[in-house]
Amino acid sequence: FTTRTENGRHFLQIPGPSNVPDRVLRALDNPTMDHRGPDFGLLGKKVLEKLGPVFGTTQPVIIFPASGTGAWEAALVNTLSPGDTVLMCETGWFAHLWQELAGRLGLKPRLLETDWRRAADVPAIEAALRADKGHEIKAVCVVHNETSTGCTSRIDEVRRAMDAAGHPALLMVDTISSLGSVEFRHDAWGVDVTISGSQKGLMLPPGISFNAVSEKALRASETARLPRAYWDWKSMLASNATGYFPYTPATNMLYALDTALDLLMNEGLANVFARHERHAEATRRAVRAWGLEIQCEDPRHFSPVLTAVRVPEGHSANALRAAILERFDMSLGNGLGRLNDRVFRIGHLGALNDLSLLGTLGGVEMGLRVAGVPHDAGGVKAAMDLLSGNA
Ligand code: PLP
Repeated sequence: FTTRTENGRHFLQIPGPSNVPDRVLRALDNPTMDHRGPDFGLLGKKVLEKLGPVFGTTQPVIIFPASGTGAWEAALVNTLSPGDTVLMCETGWFAHLWQELAGRLGLKPRLLETDWRRAADVPAIEAALRADKGHEIKAVCVVHNETSTGCTSRIDEVRRAMDAAGHPALLMVDTISSLGSVEFRHDAWGVDVTISGSQKGLMLPPGISFNAVSEKALRASETARLPRAYWDWKSMLASNATGYFPYTPATNMLYALDTALDLLMNEGLANVFARHERHAEATRRAVRAWGLEIQCEDPRHFSPVLTAVRVPEGHSANALRAAILERFDMSLGNGLGRLNDRVFRIGHLGALNDLSLLGTLGGVEMGLRVAGVPHDAGGVKAAMDLLSGNA
């Protein structure tokens, strides 16, 4: 391993998988139980119920033993039919991957592109829906927090645009890197399928993912014709009614999920979201003080979860990240797709406090110096001024 653990903790500051709190790690460590035995149903029911408030829903939430990509596929195959048109907002690399997956399933993605420096273009969504008089578009797919760019889309505004256009398409939202870090309201925003994953705001290791499902999505699943077996909601919901699963669930991850949900609820979701906003603002102040550019150009779309930072022309973000890993034992997110080597991404999500953030920013500031990336000093100070209340 290149990461070291013997002299203090490795700093895992990629935008997910995020750091797993010790209490959650200890919960994982419980003995594996019989997933068909009498106790398991109690655990299953408990976690399924506790998930609702995090998604902002009283409707079913389904847990898959899969990474987020599996939950993307589940959302599409349960609700759509071969050849259906899906309107996809290409906000960055993850939106691009979701669109590719939709194409491979036999759907017809219609793209609304951005320059990857802002979130989903809500007026363009409304215009596309208004122009679709024959209601060919069956779903609008938006990535809430685009992890490749650090731009967060306004799902409430997307909903209003869909209503204004009077269009019946389903609304599907990827909250893989926002859930548990950024306010999200599945019911209030009229989202039909919310897709999420364990390894970011929920502070769990990778391995389980989610679909929160509206009544309208459930109705659509009755007539949807894309082939589905493993991802089928129907058999899942039938088993979940008693707290069980149709196949072996990720038993120990459910112990961990139970504990992670307690941590979020004990802190209070509003406090969790405010903490993320504050750390994001401190990070942006540091980046500006360094004289570097934030990838997200629209302040309304700044992500509370991560900040993607552009390196000056002629410099390599990958070389910078490698230097920071080598010298300071910290992992930062790489640039994805067209942003490869152009940006590095600072994750400030999940289990994070002020001093961990300052350590992170200190590592970046020293790394800029070590790697010879031109910058001004004072980023850490700018963040400290905010965090200590002296800004
Ligand atoms: N969507 C977003 C916004 C993501 O950040 C990620 C992973 O980072 C994915 C989808 C893909 O999820 P996974 O890698 O868990 O399959």
